[in-house]
Amino acid sequence: AVAAGSRTVTLFPGDGIGREISSALQKVFTAASVPVVWDTYDVGAEAAERTGSLITKEALDSVLRTGVCLKGPTATPIGKGHKSLNVTLRQTLDIYANVRPAKTIAAVPTRYEKVDIVIVRENTEDLYAGQEAVITDGVNISLKIITEKASTRIAKYAFEYAVANGRKKVSAIHKANIMKLTDGLFLECCRKVAKEYPQITYDERIIDATCMMLVQDPTKFDVMVLPNLYGDIVSDLAAGLIGGLGLTASSNYGQKAVLFEAVHGTAPDIAGKDLANPSALLFSGAMMLRHLGLKTHADQIENAVLKTLKGSVKTKDLGGNSTCSEFTNHVIKNL
Ligand code: NAD
Repeated sequence: AVAAGSRTVTLFPGDGIGREISSALQKVFTAASVPVVWDTYDVGAEAAERTGSLITKEALDSVLRTGVCLKGPTATPIGKGHKSLNVTLRQTLDIYANVRPAKTIAAVPTRYEKVDIVIVRENTEDLYAGQEAVITDGVNISLKIITEKASTRIAKYAFEYAVANGRKKVSAIHKANIMKLTDGLFLECCRKVAKEYPQITYDERIIDATCMMLVQDPTKFDVMVLPNLYGDIVSDLAAGLIGGLGLTASSNYGQKAVLFEAVHGTAPDIAGKDLANPSALLFSGAMMLRHLGLKTHADQIENAVLKTLKGSVKTKDLGGNSTCSEFTNHVIKNL
């Protein structure tokens, strides 16, 4: 039975460390008495070995029904096999805006002190459209698809995000000097949308120069809007600026559903060893709770994770020796 006032959320624990960090998150949510009921489905490469399918219709239907999904990472074989489950989910559910904040965590020392960037990545097209072909022996192509519709939609999302979150600047990132038609169209759409938001400063930067600026002085950036591939790469770069992939959360917005997940992948090198840092998924969970209007619970969980990160219980990625379970127990203590 579902308790009165509870929200049902679809949970995909995922592959690799996905199971370990999802189970950590469920323990923390239970300890904090979060009014969320899980509708759980096995999806991903490990599930596919048993069921023959990366994701079942029931699992997809659940996301459409609940409108909110928390997802662990899922594995995609490199250079062969099936289309990525993530790409399939994004395209099927039309979750077009991937928001990846990278903000300095005082308890985690890095080279920079005041990083506070929000990456808004287009999620449905570009080189991730998966339109590849063998032209002739030794010559393969991949189509870079950029549309006016998707570019305008993501630019609007970035500016609306900036307004709603008290941000001052949106930077459009591109390589339109070389890809004049595709990145050129992306830029043209960003420029048009920028005119509707005179209160937000707008600038444009070329992707290669952006990477240099990010490592020299990341405080030069506020909200960044990027086509799919650059967005993917730059958000891992930004994760590195604030202490690594164990810490960065993300949300994926669309009309039909909103999906929350850590930026990192299945971490095959540490999977099954109880070594993963669950913070990134816990921060994603807090983002989800804010989306559900459960701000008090979101703050409680986020603060407990921040307090734990300040203490001596650290997972290996942050230079410690603690396990995922030990870290999780301390988060629960700090709730
Ligand atoms: P990865 O993010 O899984 O791992 C990169 C490095 O970061 C590894 O050394 C790993 O141990 C470390 N790391 C990542 N998350 C961590 C955590 N929570 N705690 C401690 N250390 C952590 O990237 P990869 O190795 O390039 O990809 C592995 C698989 O994950 C691939 O199949 C890839 O397709 C998939 N992937 C999935 C998603 C997703 O589902 N959203 C995202 C990225 C990659």
